[in-house]
Amino acid sequence: LNFRKVHFVTSAPDIRHLPNDGGIEIAFAGRSNAGKSSALNALTQQRQLARTSKTPGRTQLINLFELEPGKRLVDLPGYGYAQVPLDMKLKWQASLSEYLQRRESLRALVLLMDIRHPLKDLDLQMLEWASNSDLKILVLLTKADKLNPGPRKNVVQQVRKATTVFGDNVFVEAFSSLKGIGVEEVTRILSEWYQS
Ligand code: GDP
Repeated sequence: LNFRKVHFVTSAPDIRHLPNDGGIEIAFAGRSNAGKSSALNALTQQRQLARTSKTPGRTQLINLFELEPGKRLVDLPGYGYAQVPLDMKLKWQASLSEYLQRRESLRALVLLMDIRHPLKDLDLQMLEWASNSDLKILVLLTKADKLNPGPRKNVVQQVRKATTVFGDNVFVEAFSSLKGIGVEEVTRILSEWYQS
């Protein structure tokens, strides 16, 4: 699977407006600022696939990309902005949970967390929804270049241990868009998931 062949398909304001629920989808999610846009750009080797500057509080769109016919990448809105009004936060959460639980073509969730602040409440909530829906889960501990190799390894191990409660389908990898850490491994894992 060639991730460089990615192209934009459409944006949707919510899951009701997504295109046909067929083929295989893998969704990317995470707290805002976790490094999701950078990771998507690194994996697809694009400079601006996902825009890296966003305005907090604005309605965020679900962006769909296609790698091959029927194989899609889904960029879900970042969550956890402090400034967002509560009713909007709750709406996003309802929308995310609905998507994770109802979308037939959804095979896996890639959940991005800053390696220095992993497993916040909303991350745990996402893990719970995804595991309840029997999705494969890949936790990417982003900005791994911010830690030295020793501490980095420790965090990966801690997060692996802490996520065993979500079942056997949880994988945890250190990742850095900046230094290319984990890019090959993640590409390999996702290619496999798109084939199966
Ligand atoms: P998003 O909100 O999850 O899409 O996050 P972005 O990709 O926009 O990144 C948020 C911030 O983290 C930006 O200032 C990036 O430059 C920075 N960032 C993203 N990835 C990395 C990385 O691998 N290493 C470092 N050091 N900073 C990163």
